[in-house]
Amino acid sequence: MLIGGHVSTRGGIDKAVDVALGIGAEVIQTHPSQPQTWRSLVIDEPTAEAYREKAAAARLGGHWFHAVYLINLATSDEVLLKRSVGSLVHYMDLAARLGADGVVFHPGSHRGAGFEPMLPTIGAALREVLERTSSPARLLVENSAGQGGCVGCRFEELGAILDIAGDDPRLGVCLDTCHAFANGYDLSTAVGVQAALAEFQATVGFDRLTLVHANDSRVELGAKRDRHANIGEGFIGTAGFGLMLNDPRLGSVPWVLEVPGEGQGPDLANVNRLRELAGRAPAVARVPVAR
Ligand SMILES: [Zn+2]
Ligand SMILES: [Zn+2]
Repeated sequence: MLIGGHVSTRGGIDKAVDVALGIGAEVIQTHPSQPQTWRSLVIDEPTAEAYREKAAAARLGGHWFHAVYLINLATSDEVLLKRSVGSLVHYMDLAARLGADGVVFHPGSHRGAGFEPMLPTIGAALREVLERTSSPARLLVENSAGQGGCVGCRFEELGAILDIAGDDPRLGVCLDTCHAFANGYDLSTAVGVQAALAEFQATVGFDRLTLVHANDSRVELGAKRDRHANIGEGFIGTAGFGLMLNDPRLGSVPWVLEVPGEGQGPDLANVNRLRELAGRAPAVARVPVAR
């Protein structure tokens, strides 16, 4: 399994590769543009080429974009829906241009309207995104943490979203361990992990699992709050991560950390906690490749 983390693009998207090498990451996730705004990333061809060269030289095993936080596909606000679809199309096109593997997004909030009534809207929006881009990148729905009106918090909701969006092979799921735990999936014990994975199999299917977001949880089981903790420092704990890392159903896809580290985000220490639990030798920080 490939292990990496979410890294900063401060100073340009190619800088993410330097950070990756500094934390021993084999795969990365980035926000190509400010996640709190709709502004898209305008990138000229020399910059794109510089990134592609650097990523190839670093032999990264994957690069995933995380879509902006404003996206909501479960809304009856047509302006918001249109912007959300447009933003995902932009990211999918950008992924094709930079050779990134896919785009992870949170489906949004129904804001009290209910999941079932908004499901056709979500399905239509996803079909539109995929129709409007010829990008080969994957489009991954991530399970959410469970704040009000949460869409895609339960595994059966993820399954329903993929079903209604059609059978485009680019669609997949990103499973966030902290968000699942916040929704009552007890990933801290063997019994809980087995139950959660059985439910995931029955409702989504592991053939559609493409990525894991590896985050411990600062809040208790079922707290419905999104508070990421470093691996082993939260309520999921090392036992839970050891069980998940050694389960072939989860161990066959890349794992991306989104933990606080020492305040700078995912770091070598967290990468190596996962590697140790997976029975792998520790990673060493490689110096950034010179261009
Ligand atoms: Zn996540
Ligand atoms: Zn989160």
